[in-house]
Amino acid sequence: MDNFDLHNHSTASDGTLSPAQLLELAARQGVQAMALTDHDTVEGLEEAARAARSHGIAFVTGVEISVTWGDTTVHVVGLGIDPANADLANGLRSIREGRLGRGKRMADALEKLGFRGTLEAALAHAGDEKRLSRTHFARHLAESGAVKDAQQAFDKYLGKDKPAYVRHQWARLEDAMGWILGAGGVAVLAHPGRYGLKPLGRATLLDEFKRLGGEAIEVVTGSHRPEEYATWRRVAEQYGFLASRGSDFHGPGESPVMPGGLPPLPASLVPVWSRWAH
Ligand code: AMP
Ligand code: MN
Ligand code: MN
Ligand code: MN
Repeated sequence: MDNFDLHNHSTASDGTLSPAQLLELAARQGVQAMALTDHDTVEGLEEAARAARSHGIAFVTGVEISVTWGDTTVHVVGLGIDPANADLANGLRSIREGRLGRGKRMADALEKLGFRGTLEAALAHAGDEKRLSRTHFARHLAESGAVKDAQQAFDKYLGKDKPAYVRHQWARLEDAMGWILGAGGVAVLAHPGRYGLKPLGRATLLDEFKRLGGEAIEVVTGSHRPEEYATWRRVAEQYGFLASRGSDFHGPGESPVMPGGLPPLPASLVPVWSRWAH
């Protein structure tokens, strides 16, 4: 099996490595095919593609779109998208433009909890206000000693329904799907085990995703616990989804799984990678 890793982040969103550094690490880890899937941006793809070429890694363009589905934030990965597509670019820009205002509300909530100056500090981590993410706040809280690591910042303050969690309207599912398909991409439901949905909600999401043209789900991902793989293997079989594999890598020392470091997909599944490997 090819070692493909179709979900990774760089400094273009909330990763800690530049696209070139990420591809260099991937090469050392034995990755043969890689997708860069930054949150709501295609900004890092050109640099990543160039670095991939220099390391002999097959490169797949990607993006991870933030979606609000009912009360739930859902992530949809687009693979093989044309980064120059105008509707996609405009849609992603509209999402990114909401990030600063949301960040301000998060900083206000953190201020009420006694943490001052978090907006400026998180912005310094993000480097650009349109990238500002909870991860950047989490890194600041860890670095300032408020929590022991970024994960604890999510567990105590930034995770869903925690005291500094702020509701936000991301893209609509049908819009995100339209942008991905319109840009020639394959839509992949990211880490479906992470949404905390009950069986009915889960089935409704999967049906709707499929109806809107969704072709694949992530089964083996750094954002699933290994004991969850079997559940999502069965879902992929039942719905006839292709399966994706991706570490959801954000940075050394922060992410539990290194690029290319996951187990292979279950043999019964058709990898989404088969869409490009002719
Ligand atoms: P945002 O788009 O600003 O809401 O940030 C979402 C990012 O925060 C995700 O892509 C993860 O990198 C990280 N994240 C979200 N929830 C958690 C969590 N419970 N634990 C660790 N990281 C998380
Ligand atoms: Mn992230
Ligand atoms: Mn995600
Ligand atoms: Mn991700």
